[in-house]
Amino acid sequence: MKEAYNLQSLYEKYLDLVRFEISEFSVKPTEVRHLIGRLGEFFCAIVLDGVLASTPNQHGFDVVCKKGRKVSVKTTAQKSGFVAIGGNTLSLVDDLMIIQFIDDSLRIVYYGPIELAVAKARYYDDIKKYELDISAARLIYKDIDSSLDLSVLNSRAHILSAEGRYFEFKNDDDYLKWISEHLASGYILNCNKSHSQSSVKIHRANCRHITELRGNAGSGGFTRDYIKVGAFGEAALRNWLALRRGDVVAELCGNCLKAVRE
Ligand SMILES: [Zn+2]
Repeated sequence: MKEAYNLQSLYEKYLDLVRFEISEFSVKPTEVRHLIGRLGEFFCAIVLDGVLASTPNQHGFDVVCKKGRKVSVKTTAQKSGFVAIGGNTLSLVDDLMIIQFIDDSLRIVYYGPIELAVAKARYYDDIKKYELDISAARLIYKDIDSSLDLSVLNSRAHILSAEGRYFEFKNDDDYLKWISEHLASGYILNCNKSHSQSSVKIHRANCRHITELRGNAGSGGFTRDYIKVGAFGEAALRNWLALRRGDVVAELCGNCLKAVRE
């Protein structure tokens, strides 16, 4: 199921907006919960490789995962406390994902069947709502022995976290600016547009192989025919590649990485 919108780019724009509001208005993340709620839905759809429900806040679920299960997403910026789960829409939902926005990035607190979650929640009949403590949700998540591919999920989630973030460069200007700012700490994955095995290499940001153009390359030569992705470690780049081409392994550059280690 592929949608016309670009989830990754929506996610990044919302994340920028969340950060911008927090700094511009000097507020706590809990005060921009309207944005964080939507950010969490994008996050969930990306990590599950699913799609957004067609109309926000309408059906009790927010995302439909690859297997067709309906997922309700709760995103909180609170460190502790609880999340509320509507009792009326319970029958429309298969799974629940609880996400925390802490230290500038999102992480999964709970993902699994919604029944398991409400079984540990308090129910208030007058308002038809459940309240599930974040600490309780975390405990059930630890114990979930599921057929869900949690390692794929976690590696996708890691990519969206601050340490796992990567940067795909659309043009030479953005690319050159980034490497000049991160010469000492940056890593670059370079490959051709089909990610073919022999082309995929990881370099340090200061390596001459990716900072100098070959004689006849001309302007745009860094990014026109090549994909360049930046990150602050090899792991994030390997994750980036794994999500696109699971069969391809990135090699370390013989000039800047391999030679150093041998
Ligand atoms: Zn290199």
